[in-house]
Amino acid sequence: MEGIITAWGRILRGYTPSLSIEITRECPLRCPGCYAYGDDHLGGDVTLRQVTDYKGQELVDRVLAIVDEEKPIHVSIVGGEPLVRYRELQQLLPKLAARGIYSQLVTSAVRPIPAEFASIPRLQIVVSIDGLQPEHDLRRTPATYDRILKHIVGHQITVHCTVTRQQVQREGYLEEFLRFWSANQHTRQIWVSLFTPQIGEIAEEILLPADRERVIAALMTLRHRYHKLQMPEGLIKKYARPPQSPEECVFAQTTSCISADLERRITPCQFGGTPDCSQCGCIASAGLAAVASHRLPGGLRVGAIFEGSLKVGRMVRGRREPLAINQPSPAA
Ligand code: SF4
Ligand code: SF4
Repeated sequence: MEGIITAWGRILRGYTPSLSIEITRECPLRCPGCYAYGDDHLGGDVTLRQVTDYKGQELVDRVLAIVDEEKPIHVSIVGGEPLVRYRELQQLLPKLAARGIYSQLVTSAVRPIPAEFASIPRLQIVVSIDGLQPEHDLRRTPATYDRILKHIVGHQITVHCTVTRQQVQREGYLEEFLRFWSANQHTRQIWVSLFTPQIGEIAEEILLPADRERVIAALMTLRHRYHKLQMPEGLIKKYARPPQSPEECVFAQTTSCISADLERRITPCQFGGTPDCSQCGCIASAGLAAVASHRLPGGLRVGAIFEGSLKVGRMVRGRREPLAINQPSPAA
């Protein structure tokens, strides 16, 4: 509830409460179906691998300047592979924490996660693990199970699995995955997303409607058996009825996404391009949709408050931006 009120306040003042930054264009992996390196991720004129990115102190300073301008409550650090900039993260993450910001580092764990990250307050380390070892290693080498198991020691990670069609071919696959990662002492929690295609995309990863139904039914049962699978029933149900457009997506409406040149906005959401919302399986979108469906005492839907506040926020922002040109920056 406290989080909702803080986010509400930010929206009313014309800020988006959540920020996602691709801090680098580099990644040693070549995952099939990777949206970040898709041709249309940044709108089609340039790809993530082609943008100019930053390193060292310049990266740290530029990211902090964006954060200070955008005033988010929550920052996701993504890539590429953010850990290729681990030295910069060693500076950046404590500074975000000191500002009271909740951060999320989304990584393949292809390289060791610095030990000191374990004690940074409000930092969540999310490791992408797409299936059991044979399927995962095939897709995500060099970020193999062997490496991940070594690199997460000393941390409490969130395991994030994106379910693809390849994983739903075998009965019991998801349960085996949950059993394996629930037993790992370095797993704090497990999240499951579903592969989200672009409109018109043809790919082996895309779930058929029947696959989606089976995964949803399995998650509904498995959440009672594996307590580390921290996905409330309301969130899982949203996978059955995703938003039909970015305008209906609370996540897209409340999150700013910035690419590795630290200028380009990724729209309409972190996937970029023209994502097929009707087949969305993003846990963040489903999670916020579930929050928006929640009714406050008195019956008012949280989503109705957000929708009204977004309109007010846009007006406030529209008024603030022309003024800002003539105002000294707070850092001056
Ligand atoms: S690790 Fe992420 S950014 Fe890198 S190729 Fe795989 S999906 Fe793409
Ligand atoms: S997160 Fe999903 S529903 Fe939201 S805009 Fe992106 S693809 Fe559409």
